[in-house]
Amino acid sequence: MTALDLGPMADPIYPEVQRVLAERNAAQRDDDRVRCTDCRNLQRWHCADPKRAGLKVDRYGRCEIGPELAALPQRCPAFKPKGQANV
Ligand code: SF4
Repeated sequence: MTALDLGPMADPIYPEVQRVLAERNAAQRDDDRVRCTDCRNLQRWHCADPKRAGLKVDRYGRCEIGPELAALPQRCPAFKPKGQANV
């Protein structure tokens, strides 16, 4: 996960906002859960490795992942981070 870009909120006029966002960024760094949106297996809103992920597949061997589920932090044994070489 990437740290939240504070943008215009980085202005010192918002110290309380900065404090809250810094706490949230620290919490995200310590969180080892992943999101489908960060996974190479998410292709056209379907998981490319659903059996290893422990998901129920349809008769075509595919599993649709909706936007809400894709954004949900989870622990997945089939997670492959985007940008990593295919091994
Ligand atoms: S492998 Fe896991 S994290 Fe990746 S898209 Fe499938 S369910 Fe999501």
